[in-house]
Amino acid sequence: MTIVVAIDGPAGAGKSTIAKALAKKLGVKYLDTGAMYRAVTFLALNDGVSLHDEAAVAKLSVDCALDVGEETVTINSIDATRAIRGPEVTNKVSLVATNSLVRNELRTRQREWVRMNDGGVVEGRDIGSVVFPDATLKVYLTASPLVRAKRRVAQSGGDVERIAAEIAERDLRDSTRADSPLMKTDDSITVDTSDRSIDEVVAHLERLARVADEKRAASR
Ligand code: C5P
Repeated sequence: MTIVVAIDGPAGAGKSTIAKALAKKLGVKYLDTGAMYRAVTFLALNDGVSLHDEAAVAKLSVDCALDVGEETVTINSIDATRAIRGPEVTNKVSLVATNSLVRNELRTRQREWVRMNDGGVVEGRDIGSVVFPDATLKVYLTASPLVRAKRRVAQSGGDVERIAAEIAERDLRDSTRADSPLMKTDDSITVDTSDRSIDEVVAHLERLARVADEKRAASR
């Protein structure tokens, strides 16, 4: 059976850390789809393409050689691992994410990745709602705004209030855009990571994924 776990949620909810650890436990690979949107944003900025020129940015996304690995992100042979986490990309990526042509292309690549890897843990904003509506398990990870901002500051430094404001702006854009906004689907389980350890959340999700997988196998 192919296990696909979709993990969605706002910035700083702990998606990457939890998705990576869960993938290991389940013996499948992990895909960070946010890194794909970040890499296209990086390439457009690097090539001097206006982010408002939807057709030009879409063309970049279709033509690029993009490799999102567990540790590194490479686009058109450029190692963009660090640059995609920088403030310039972080503050502009949600604009690129409103581009439906880019979203179409990246979704196609995400589905292909899961097919090639025979399942996986995939994290993003529209994974359970649009990319894999039939996922084995759909998780909506969240945490209080203050906890999320503090986590980002611990990771990359900065001022908590400023980072909290930037996160709030990105969340607003991500959850109000017309095409596949961040949302909680009825069939997803919500996990608030504010006061729970990573190990605790991962163990909980592993159990849920295995039960859901067995249920599916039994119903076939
Ligand atoms: O997960 P991360 O914070 O790196 O995602 C960066 C941005 O990419 C998000 O703020 C969102 O605008 C976009 N994104 C998206 N759909 C996804 C994953 C990320 O729109 N599936």
